[in-house]
Amino acid sequence: MNAPRIVWLRRDLRLADQPAFCSAAAQGPVIPVYVLDDARAGERQLGGAARWWLHGSLKAFGREVERHGLRLILRRGDCVKQILDLVTETGASGVDAIRHYEPWWREAEEELGRQTDLQLHDGNYLAPPGLVTTGTGSPFKIYTPFARALLRLLPLRDPLPVPAITAPEAWPGSDSLVSWDLRPGNPDWAAGFRDAWEPGEEAAHAQLDDFVERADAYEEERNRPSVDGTSRLSPHLQWGEISPTQVWHALDGQRGTGADTFRGEVIWRDYAQNVIHQFPRYPESSYRDVFERFGWRDPQKSESAAADLRAWQRGRTGYPIVDAGMRQLWTTGWMHNRVRMIAASFLIKHLLIDWRHGERWFWDTLVDADYANNGVNWQWVSGSGVDSNMFPRIMAPLSQSEKFDAAAYIREWVPELAGLEDAEIHDPADSRRRNGYPVKRIDHKAARERALSAYRAAKG
Ligand SMILES: Cc1cc2nc3c(=O)[nH]c(=O)nc-3n(C[C@H](O)[C@H](O)[C@H](O)COP(=O)(O)OP(=O)(O)OC[C@H]3O[C@@H](n4cnc5c(N)ncnc54)[C@H](O)[C@@H]3O)c2cc1C
Repeated sequence: MNAPRIVWLRRDLRLADQPAFCSAAAQGPVIPVYVLDDARAGERQLGGAARWWLHGSLKAFGREVERHGLRLILRRGDCVKQILDLVTETGASGVDAIRHYEPWWREAEEELGRQTDLQLHDGNYLAPPGLVTTGTGSPFKIYTPFARALLRLLPLRDPLPVPAITAPEAWPGSDSLVSWDLRPGNPDWAAGFRDAWEPGEEAAHAQLDDFVERADAYEEERNRPSVDGTSRLSPHLQWGEISPTQVWHALDGQRGTGADTFRGEVIWRDYAQNVIHQFPRYPESSYRDVFERFGWRDPQKSESAAADLRAWQRGRTGYPIVDAGMRQLWTTGWMHNRVRMIAASFLIKHLLIDWRHGERWFWDTLVDADYANNGVNWQWVSGSGVDSNMFPRIMAPLSQSEKFDAAAYIREWVPELAGLEDAEIHDPADSRRRNGYPVKRIDHKAARERALSAYRAAKG
């Protein structure tokens, strides 16, 4: 029998359209491995919500590979060492993996590739980051020309079927998933997660099928948090339970602005990774210098800034749309995109708190927390990033809430206000704030003036 191949899994927990599996299966028996390596990612180790998702995803994936006669091997510790130990233990001829672009994964791939036969494959993006370039061969910084150029190339290929896979003669030892404690025990904060989500490849495809039926309405509904108008595929895509190529393919033949707008959003995911490919530490500091000398209110130095940050995190700012979003996030690990923009803008511009505090909070609380998408979107909202400067465009949360008809959404997530009519729920008078719902932490007009004057001061 041929020597086995290790498939090293990370955010690519699927069997279909999985080029690393296809490559390994063509060379020998397959040993799928996931290594939990918290130290490698340093400060970027998985947040609590992501760990909750990972547990479900590994469990589902373990069941899926068993149907193909395989076992999912779980190891904990330094990923390079663990994989090399497994190569020795099993006599594997080498390792196949899908390429990942976060800086700590790039380092690990280089290290591993120096010590064993590591074959890396592209598969988690519509096109490998770095492939799409301007006429002069440089990478794009701005979304629109990037999207236009990428669209001209798509689709690059059809999704790959699950290959015929053989099992090795013997299996190496594995940790038990439960011993990793990825899910909370006591207190169990994840009841809302269980109601909202089912991780895994099968659930991802069910979600995609459901969305394809309603893709026509996407253009109309995607900005209305009160309705289920978006695909809710983000954690499935983030964990690689489904590939963007499969998503693209499922929409094949769908014409109309709904499907087109949706395709544009999926391209945003590629765009974000394209930015990280150029600037690997992008989520760690402002791209534009002016924001590095900005007069942020620092929660580490000012008690009132710390109290504002806490109020934002807990959904107690006194702005119903912001609070509804932050509570949806806390309860389910996900927030509607329109509300992510409003809540992010509120933290940065109304509370004048550095976007990195928000980015970190999202990192810890989102089931779809993604190094690229999160960092790129936070810098986009703050105006500190590679694209156009949005800082002086300050979103008014109350009119956004009215415009996008968020009354039912607020009733769901801020039950203290559930008895109010649509007309007053977006901006209730202080006397109508019931059941301990707080007054606004800062008046909108005053916040706007403070933000603009801080911006002028930083520009000098
Ligand atoms: C401040 C902020 C932080 C964000 N952090 C993340 C994050 O950590 N992880 C994450 O996946 N998305 C993030 N987003 C982008 C976006 O909010 C989510 O992808 C979207 O809400 C997921 O819901 P959906 O799957 O129903 O999206 P849909 O509207 O159905 O879109 C389909 C897919 O396209 C991709 N997508 C959509 N919008 C964007 C976008 N603006 N940028 C990049 N990809 C996009 C996602 O993979 C999404 O699943 C963030 C947005 C903001 C404003």
